This record gives sequence, structure tokens and C-alpha cells, in this order.
Amino acid sequence: MNEAFSGVESKLIHAGEPRPQVDGAVVTPIFQSSTYLYEGTPGYHDVRYIRLSTNPNQRVLNEKIAALENTEAALVATSGMAAISTSLLSVLSAGDHLLALDCLYGGTHGLVTKDLTQLGITYTFIDGQNSDSWREALRQNTKAIYVETLTNPLLQFPDVEAVARFAKSNNLVSMIDNTFASPINLRPADFGFDLVMESGTKYLNGHNDIVAGTVAGSSDHILHIKHKLDHLGGSLDPHACFLLQRGLKTLAVRVRYQCESALRIAGYLSEHPAVARVMYPGLPDHPQHDRAQKLLSGFGGMISFEVAGGAEAADRFMRSLQVATLAPSLGGVETLIVRPAAAVHSGLSKEERDASGISDGLIRLSVGLETTDDLIADFDRALGSV
Ligand SMILES: *Cc1c(COP(=O)(O)O)cnc(C)c1O
Repeated sequence: MNEAFSGVESKLIHAGEPRPQVDGAVVTPIFQSSTYLYEGTPGYHDVRYIRLSTNPNQRVLNEKIAALENTEAALVATSGMAAISTSLLSVLSAGDHLLALDCLYGGTHGLVTKDLTQLGITYTFIDGQNSDSWREALRQNTKAIYVETLTNPLLQFPDVEAVARFAKSNNLVSMIDNTFASPINLRPADFGFDLVMESGTKYLNGHNDIVAGTVAGSSDHILHIKHKLDHLGGSLDPHACFLLQRGLKTLAVRVRYQCESALRIAGYLSEHPAVARVMYPGLPDHPQHDRAQKLLSGFGGMISFEVAGGAEAADRFMRSLQVATLAPSLGGVETLIVRPAAAVHSGLSKEERDASGISDGLIRLSVGLETTDDLIADFDRALGSV
């Protein structure tokens, strides 16, 4: 670790970068080479081959992510789901039991309930707000506890400090998907999480143009996960590494702007008569606002809200927008908007969605980097047409 800097903005730009620079290049070039000269001492770990995460672009990112998350080590992978699945498969084996947050990202929900079950790994869903209930769910073979910083799409904030404490006192591996917060707003390793996963596709890259994922933790944990990644084959290609590295340099300024913009937009929406309800951790009426204020450096760029009049009104509203773009995904420079019941959560039945509080008219908004006043004017025009 370079001692000359300690701030997150400096880490984003300088951590992990080769010194001296490669041929004097200020920006680390793309190493479009799948294999490297073999330098003597025999052994698998000396082999430099692209799938083994030993390409220079992969190594720069691994160090940069570890510096950002305040962990000993980190790994980049081909997608957020590659990072999550490889990490879970490295921690859990047949016969193990997992405690998992009851409102998981869709891909992770499918992985836990279908794929892990097929491999003989069982799970129990837990209520992230009610730490007293976790003990009852604990079994002799419980190995890990898995949560998300802010849930999708309702933006609930689990009691993450209690999760880390509970894991420590019960000898569980604590795992968190920190995608919605990004390491700018929360660094879960600081209060004891063992493994922190992020979808690099979202805030870390931030330009809606690649797919990538990261996992950070102790050297021991990351070495295990690296061996699993070597076998499963989810190493990130150098060109995507380069784009992720480039995107990361502006992460702090992007996320802070998005937080500021989202707070103003959430305030605007909550006062509009055509809006029935707004969920944003930065609003005082959010059920976990106090926890968010205490732990998060910013409330994030994600807002969920309902317009009066249900799904049809929501669709009319979204079709009238001219600045915000109707598309899934989040965390990028373009403001994106979806109706989860018709898009990202359409895989769930109406009953499952109702049970999770995802009404048909619910709208999820990822605030981008456009001028805040332009976005508010866009919403204002569209709300007028509902
Ligand atoms: C998008 C997302 C993922 C999956 O990431 P991919 O890069 O699409 O594989 C995981 N968790 C959360 C919270 C996400 O938003």
C-alpha cells in the first residue's frame, strides 16, 4: 500500500497502479495478452495466464478494490453474479446451511433457492430488521449469513452492524452485497463483514457499458475464492478491466453528485400530490432513516415511489419522460427508470410481489448525472400527464 495517500479519491486514481509507470504511460494500458513469459520456479501459482487473474489489468483492479473496501485483498470477476456465486460456492459446501436476507436481488434469490439447493446447501430467510429472530433460524450446520446493504427495490436498510456482530459471536462467515451503497457510502469491512461483494456493472463502473463484479475480504478468504474462480472460469477480460478502472476513477464525485441530486428529487416527489409514496433512506419518514444517517456517508442515488393510480398511471408517467430513460440496471450516468413488477421482478408471482411489498405501480429510479433541475422538470411534466 502506498503511504503517500489515504483518501478515497486518491485511492480511486492511484491505488494498485504500476510504479514506475509502464513505459511512462500515465494511464495503465490494456494488456491484451492471455499468457506471459514463464520465469523459472515451477508451480501452478507462478503461471501467468489470463483465467488465473494474473493479467496486469486484473491485478491493478484487485489491489484498487481492496484499497477501496479497506480489506487485505479483492478479486474482480466477469459479473456481479459471478462474484456472488463464486464467493457463496467457496464458503458453502453440501450439507451447509445459509441464513439469507428475505428480500434478495433476483439473481441471488434464484441462486440460493434453486442452484445451491440442488447442490445440497439449505437456507433460511431472515428478517433484516429483527435481529432477535436470527438465533431461532440458526442450525448446527449454519455456515454463513448473507445480506444486502439496501434492498431492491424497496430500499430497506437491514441492521448490518447486528449482522456482523451476530456472525462473529456464532462463528459464521458474514457476507454483504454492497452494490446499492458502493464503497463511497458504506465500507462494510470497517465494522466486521468478512466478504463484501459489488456488481461492478452498476456504480463502480458507472457508465452502463460493461458487466463486472468484485469481492473483497481477508487474504485467506480471497485466496479460496480465487481458486474457485480459476475453476469456474469467471475472470474479467482486460478490456472490461480497463473500462472498469477508468470508470472507478470518478466514482467518488459521481456518487456524491447522485446522492445530492437524489435527495432533492426524493423531496420533490414526496411533496407532489400525484405521488402516493416515496421510499428513500434520506427522507425522515423512511423506517431506517436514523440508521442510514448514522452509517451511510450518503443516502445513495436510488429512489422508489408510487404514483396514485397504479400500474397504468405509472406506465403513462414513464412513457411521458424525455430525460430519464426507461431501462433496467442502475448506478450509471444516465438516469434509468423501471416498473419492477413489469421488469426486474416480473419473474415473481403477483402473490410473491405483494408479500414483498412490490406493488404493480411501484417505480424504481436510478438517478444519473444529468442536471437535477432538468430531471425534476421532466418528472413534473410527466406527472402532469398521469
Ligand atoms: C445488478 C446487481 C447484481 C448482479 O450484478 P451483475 O453485474 O448484473 O451480475 C447483484 N446485486 C445487486 C444488488 C445488483 O443490483
